[in-house]
Amino acid sequence: MSERPLPVIAEPDSSAFWAATASHELTYQRCSECERVVFYPRRHCPYCASLQLSVHKSTGMGKIYTFTIVRRSDHPFFGQRVPFVIAWIELDEGFRMLSNVIDTGLDQLTIGLPVQVQWEDYDDLSIPVFKKADSA
Ligand SMILES: [Zn+2]
Repeated sequence: MSERPLPVIAEPDSSAFWAATASHELTYQRCSECERVVFYPRRHCPYCASLQLSVHKSTGMGKIYTFTIVRRSDHPFFGQRVPFVIAWIELDEGFRMLSNVIDTGLDQLTIGLPVQVQWEDYDDLSIPVFKKADSA
């Protein structure tokens, strides 16, 4: 079975994010100057260029903003997972991330569906994916 391609965690802006995933913490940043939520992780605020970013832990609860179902892939890993779901997830804290929706029937997928984070564990990090929320 082919293995999932994993992020390079030595990358300076995102290394802390990936390190936190190993303990199942989904983190995001907030700008101390303009107070906007910042995601993906980076060194400066994309809205006001401030370097004063603080890191916060997300509850991992959100909703599907939009999604697509991949039914064919020539990639050695993703090809064995079809059909699978790629979705923009809107987290309750106000940021969006691209991820997969797993363990949820394709006929249950809707825009706005409440979802909660799940983790695929690897040696040095975990990949955040989502499933239909228990409360949905
Ligand atoms: Zn800012």
